[in-house]
Amino acid sequence: MIALRDDSCEVDYASLARRVACVAGALAERGLVPGERVVILAKNRVEFVELYFALFALEAVAVPLNWRLRANEVQTLIEDAGARLVFSEGEFAPLLEGFAGQVVDFASAQADWTPFSALTGSATLLPKAESSAVAVQMYTSGTTGRAKGSMLSHANIDCMQRAWREDMPLVAETSRFLQVTPLFHVGAVLMMVSCVAARATLRLCPEFFSDHTLGVLRKEGITHALFVPAMMQWLLAEKGVDAGGFDALQLVVYGAAPMPPAVLELGLKVFGCEFLQGYGLTETAGVLTTLKPSDHLYDGEAEPPERLLSVGRAVSCCELRLVDGEGAEVSDGAVGEVVARGENIHLGYAGDNESTWDDHGWFHTGDLGRFDADGYLYLVDRVKDMICVAGENVFPREIEMRLLEHQAVQDVAVIGVPHHLWGEEVLALVVRVPESDPSAPALIQHCRGALARFKCPTRLEWVEKIPRNAAGKISKVSLRGPYWRGHDRRI
Ligand code: AMP
Repeated sequence: MIALRDDSCEVDYASLARRVACVAGALAERGLVPGERVVILAKNRVEFVELYFALFALEAVAVPLNWRLRANEVQTLIEDAGARLVFSEGEFAPLLEGFAGQVVDFASAQADWTPFSALTGSATLLPKAESSAVAVQMYTSGTTGRAKGSMLSHANIDCMQRAWREDMPLVAETSRFLQVTPLFHVGAVLMMVSCVAARATLRLCPEFFSDHTLGVLRKEGITHALFVPAMMQWLLAEKGVDAGGFDALQLVVYGAAPMPPAVLELGLKVFGCEFLQGYGLTETAGVLTTLKPSDHLYDGEAEPPERLLSVGRAVSCCELRLVDGEGAEVSDGAVGEVVARGENIHLGYAGDNESTWDDHGWFHTGDLGRFDADGYLYLVDRVKDMICVAGENVFPREIEMRLLEHQAVQDVAVIGVPHHLWGEEVLALVVRVPESDPSAPALIQHCRGALARFKCPTRLEWVEKIPRNAAGKISKVSLRGPYWRGHDRRI
């Protein structure tokens, strides 16, 4: 039975266990101890998954980083994680210049390393249900603009995958899951663990390229696939992919960003299979809610039901509530901040003593929503200052700080505005220093000098003044207002 397949190799379950033992052996030989952080910089490939499992086995911590970051950003995160060992693909070597620790090239990950003896028996590859040790540290920025490492335990990931598979049953030796979203995102880790727990096949694509992805989808008998809305929008609306050739496909999973209703409608028609939505955060080890396949059913001739605008109901491993600014539960049908508690909520942020729970033990998501009478959650806005660009989160504070470093920028506010393809794009509202005359391209270029490209503004407008409240805070709600007029939800 094939466990993992990528563009250049495939590994069955028996060899996967052996190969993971070899990677774990090599890590142990390098003196890696439990709890130690190992940074990973790679596109999706078989060895990436093997490394995750080897680190799980050793109770060391995987710190997968977004390879779209710039060298200075990567280095800040490596330092924050305190990693002395980095696994990297050759093409990312320039991101590691100046790193004093050890770099292991992925190409050598299959070399003749000695298997780790503790693993050569019947050891499981998966996170351990009983262990509160950190398994993965994933970076997500806070409102301060500083990235924080969310620590997910073995138990977090284990209970999440069990709950997830209640909604997405996979069949051993039959299901083939297409993984194009990057393995440095929590959703991909959840799919990876779910597939291996079910002994299904995980087909990894290095990244999303529409023709390649479509080719794999149609030719390799893929039964399950995960797409973020921007990928579906690209395939269906921009590339005009039509129905046909998806006979093996049983289920499409989507999430990570709001799904435009028209894209969902088109997707249901073109793919002609079941759909499952997940809503969650890195800090929740994957998802908090699912909108199930049965919720997507409707007579194709009729108007799509309202329910397709929701993110569904809580998964079995957690409870949800909506609260006001004081933490009190809001009345039925009212909008409030989504808070959650359950076994899937992370341990906290690395090196941060502040609790991520409120006094009553609830984790605050920063998302605003309302429940309908049947308990379906509808997200309407965010209280956190975050922009979701094609499924990648961008934190305005970081971009504002970079723009303020420019000599011609006196004041700035960065907000998310609607974009037909990416969901949202980054708009910078800039007050120029008197007598200066910076150009928009020059300021965007300035951002690119220090920030990953997906974070940089794609629009820039000159303004006279940035409105601030009495406490000196920018009211993003009022700044965003005019751009979101006519939209039911402001996300
Ligand atoms: P991340 O921690 O990168 O996974 O981002 C989590 C945030 O992405 C959430 O707090 C939401 O704002 C957004 N998000 C995730 N899933 C969905 C979804 N299905 N619909 C709308 N927004 C989502």
